[in-house]
Parts: sequence; structure tokens; C-alpha cells
Amino acid sequence: MKGIRCSSCGSVYTINKAVCPKCGGRAFEEYDLGDKCSIVTYTVLWVTPKGIDRSPLVLGIVEFPSGVRAFGQIITSEPRVGMSLVAKIGNLRISDGKPITGYRFEQI
Ligand SMILES: [Zn+2]
Repeated sequence: MKGIRCSSCGSVYTINKAVCPKCGGRAFEEYDLGDKCSIVTYTVLWVTPKGIDRSPLVLGIVEFPSGVRAFGQIITSEPRVGMSLVAKIGNLRISDGKPITGYRFEQI
């Protein structure tokens, strides 16, 4: 999964930022977070938003080996804290008849 690293202090993040929250730096470089991560916490939605055909829908926070955390859909029927996952690009939902893709976290 792609991330960014602050060129000044080396802090790593999952999404683009204009300013580094830790040092105020404004220069970033691409950083490869890797694909392996694990569940920190999760919730299960039995009533899902329009456009999502999976039920139940598992949403949660995952952590990469670098300590960076990300939020997103978790693809498993039996989630548990600490479960190993892999980040993949996949279909997240359907909007106006078109698939919306993005990172999701799948059981290995
Ligand atoms: Zn920084």
C-alpha cells in the first residue's frame, strides 16, 4: 500500500498531507507501507449503506509493520483483533451503477 514519508523527520502516513503534524515539514516522498497488516479494532455492520452488497460489512482499523494505521473495509467473515490481512485494490461499492475501487484489507 502506498504511503508518504516526511522528508524532514521521517514520519510515515497513509494519505497525502499538506503539512507534517509532527514537525511542520511540507516536503514528502512516496513510501511503500507493504501489503501485510493486522486488525487493531473493528465493527460489524448488519445494515449496510446503499451500493454495498456485502452483508455483514466489516469496517476496522489495521496496522502496518511501520506502525502506520489505516481505516477501511475488512474482507472476512470471522474478524478478530490481531488477524493478519493483506491490503489489495478491490471493489468497495457501487455508485450510480459504477464500481468504486480502493484499498481494502483481505484475510490471508
Ligand atoms: Zn515531519
